[in-house]
Amino acid sequence: MGRRFCWMNATVWTFAIVLQGSVCSILAQDAPPPATRQPADPLDKFVYPLAGSVKTPDVTIDVSETPDVRPWAERAQKLAHAWWPMVAPLLATDRYSPPAEIKLVFKETIQPPAYAAGSTITIKAPWIRAHPDDFGMVIHEMTHIIQHYPREGKKPGWLVEGIADYIRWWRYEPETKRTPIDPDKASYRDSYRTTAWFLAWITGKYDRSLVRRLDESLRDGKYADDLFKESTGKTVDELWAEFTATLPKRM
Ligand SMILES: [Zn+2]
Repeated sequence: MGRRFCWMNATVWTFAIVLQGSVCSILAQDAPPPATRQPADPLDKFVYPLAGSVKTPDVTIDVSETPDVRPWAERAQKLAHAWWPMVAPLLATDRYSPPAEIKLVFKETIQPPAYAAGSTITIKAPWIRAHPDDFGMVIHEMTHIIQHYPREGKKPGWLVEGIADYIRWWRYEPETKRTPIDPDKASYRDSYRTTAWFLAWITGKYDRSLVRRLDESLRDGKYADDLFKESTGKTVDELWAEFTATLPKRM
């Protein structure tokens, strides 16, 4: 994966992913015709569909620059190895080839708390010294490695980050208290936890297969906002209005 996805506290950091489609257009004439989407199984509304299992990569750590964080790194190593086989089937990974190895590299001076590039997760040592409970960040970054979306096709950054935070906050640590959403100021394009909350709400009310379908479309380079309407019968804006109407007003 040539891009970097980074986990950030949504209230502190902002991050933009620039999409480049020129190579895609050059290759378009040789591309196979798009596959026809099969109608969703109506029972998907009630059941979380899972992909088949994929091989769990080896997980290695590199604390050569920051040896004092080794105990945290070793826990993160075990965490990634244990959660990979649980996270991968939640996404559309039936045709996914995992890397043979994931590396967790700890650095003293990077800007974000962590980021994923290719099969390497780079983690800021001062961040985990200050936030030793932030193992959920490893799950978020590991999800980016599993996402591994192609260069071509539409990949809204808010959705990519929203899926990674959905896996983190609603599948790995749903018990953790989350920052409330201000319905008067928020947008589903806010990314991270706000988008994740929105996805979780749609999943619970309309379609248990939503996140997997979104992931599949991103994986195939065919994402369009219409997928929300295909899945629920409502546009993404209609869904957002319905979701925010359920939230308490913040003074
Ligand atoms: Zn991220």
